[in-house]
Amino acid sequence: MKNEMTLRSGAKIKQIGSAEANEKKYLTRHTLSKMHLMPSGEPVAYDVAPDGSIIYYFAPDRVVEAPPETWYFPRARRDTMTLESGSVIERMSVKNAAARGYYTEDRLFRMHYEVVEEPVAYTLKADKSVLYFYDKKTAKRLPLNCVRCGKDVRYKKKLCRACYEKEMAVRRIEGDKHRNEYYRMDRKKVLFFDLELTGFYDHDEILSITIVDATGELIMDTLVKPVKKKKWKETEKIHGITPDMVAEAPTLAELTPRIKEIFADAENIIAYGVSTDYSHIKYIYDTAAEREALHEKIRCCANEFVRYASEHRPDVVHASLTDAMSCFEIEWDGVAHTSMADTVACMKVWEVLFPNYYEN
Ligand SMILES: [Zn+2]
Repeated sequence: MKNEMTLRSGAKIKQIGSAEANEKKYLTRHTLSKMHLMPSGEPVAYDVAPDGSIIYYFAPDRVVEAPPETWYFPRARRDTMTLESGSVIERMSVKNAAARGYYTEDRLFRMHYEVVEEPVAYTLKADKSVLYFYDKKTAKRLPLNCVRCGKDVRYKKKLCRACYEKEMAVRRIEGDKHRNEYYRMDRKKVLFFDLELTGFYDHDEILSITIVDATGELIMDTLVKPVKKKKWKETEKIHGITPDMVAEAPTLAELTPRIKEIFADAENIIAYGVSTDYSHIKYIYDTAAEREALHEKIRCCANEFVRYASEHRPDVVHASLTDAMSCFEIEWDGVAHTSMADTVACMKVWEVLFPNYYEN
């Protein structure tokens, strides 16, 4: 016999006859139960009963004692019944069965398991009809169902394909409405900015600031001399700004009046992945109210791209500026990853995302 089955763990076991099982000293549940034992591991082989159900064989070194309360009762009270396959199973209470991990077919189905093995125990209902218990360990895990309709197998986000598509259609309509709205913004009052930093923590300092408006005009592009940090070896590799380059540059304090002026005039200030930039630029303001006012004007291009991609381009899994550009087939203007090129790229991505953003 060459038949094989795969267990839930992924292990493969073979179908064998009772002669081979005897020879290998494999034990069925029935034999184990007579010895007050129960399996502690997965079956090592199986056979098929005449009624089509599975009878598992267990290796003698993978068994444990059954809970004593199930065999200390007087013999007379131990009811058994014989299955068609010849296996003898014991009557036990629902509670006792659950203690061993045995459940009814119905209960297992509700736990998303399908029964393949023959019953391992039983109980009698009030009307004396038989209710079988099956071992959860050997039951087959069923695919989980959609949380919305409960009918079909899950596809994405806990929903079946149909419910997922329906949900996506609704979200696409909402997203498109948000993006296609006419915002009537003055291109001169929409700014894009990018900072280079000595590092990514709060105590790190700004090394360069680039600001362009939505006409593409350069408003500010300057190196900044940090006042505390003397070197930044790690980030230097990324942006290429060395301590020598900023030695003669203005400090943030010196630039602050001009930046405040620029920001005061703006209606929107947009960056790609704005949280790090905001957490550093906000320190040009002293009061919480001023910082809050800046925050109100700030928009994140990366967040908007992530939303767009989740609604329209499920194939896009990364959302860096480069990913957004290749998604929209936007070319680099100047040297990629310099703050100037990044700022212009962000401006272009925003314009694709919001085609009716500006007046004219
Ligand atoms: Zn569904």
